[in-house]
Amino acid sequence: MTHRISTSYFPARASALLLLTALASQAFGGPADRFAGVEVTAEPVSGSVHMLTGSGGNIGVSVGADGTLIIDDQYAPLAERIQTALHGLGGGRPKLILNTHVHGDHTGGNAHFGTAGTIIAHDNVRIRLLDQDLERSALPLVTYEERVTVHFNDETLQLIHLPAGHTDGDSVVWFTSANVVHMGDHLFVGRFPYVDTGSGGTVSGYMANLESVLHMVPNDIHVIPGHGPLTDKSAIHESLEMIRATRTVVANALAEGLDTDAIIARGLGDQWADFGSGFINEERWIRILLTDFQ
Ligand SMILES: [Zn+2]
Ligand SMILES: [Zn+2]
Repeated sequence: MTHRISTSYFPARASALLLLTALASQAFGGPADRFAGVEVTAEPVSGSVHMLTGSGGNIGVSVGADGTLIIDDQYAPLAERIQTALHGLGGGRPKLILNTHVHGDHTGGNAHFGTAGTIIAHDNVRIRLLDQDLERSALPLVTYEERVTVHFNDETLQLIHLPAGHTDGDSVVWFTSANVVHMGDHLFVGRFPYVDTGSGGTVSGYMANLESVLHMVPNDIHVIPGHGPLTDKSAIHESLEMIRATRTVVANALAEGLDTDAIIARGLGDQWADFGSGFINEERWIRILLTDFQ
């Protein structure tokens, strides 16, 4: 792991390490004080849509006449702080909780929020959560295979499944009136992404999913990434370009007959060096890319 972590991306180096630990283990079981310094803050996106940041995946929020809806819910120990931030926006207990995918930095608050609200997610999110021996309230009550439309606060939200990319159960959530898309972990702004091949993810699928989102949404859409600051379509283009270019570097090295150690030793070149300053460093990204050739 390199030692340069942008403060705009992670509030603190500790958060990056926390995220790495959580992603590596999937099941969060550490002491609650690991979150002692984490503040959950809100910023406006467009219309009634806001984004909350704390530790873990960015949370999308809609507050209005129908009540409160959230997209993802970070970690269980942050649930009260998330609720306080929702109150600050004039919201209450969420009526609907959408999960972009199964990972614990996006679903850790499910057990808390699922006691009062309905969790909606792709079929495979429920299947994978069932494997984790969680409380009943952590499970999605509504699941879908391809897409579902939610009508809430005068908004039309399209929950659209993306085939095997980051995992095998990812969705993007598109607010068609406010012109906002929540990308889940199909966008790590300016960073190498995590592709969870152990949960059905693939690099080629991740690229295809980025292409389909780029075709689907308007050019002036507001983009909430899974990780990183609020952005726009240019960040999706940049991520796709980086994956395509680095995958080609690895393909060429394999064609030369290099083995894994030699490819890691040679590296991906200077152009993408900054992308390795998050929790997926260059070596880890090369190992993920290599899974696409197995
Ligand atoms: Zn994440
Ligand atoms: Zn994830």
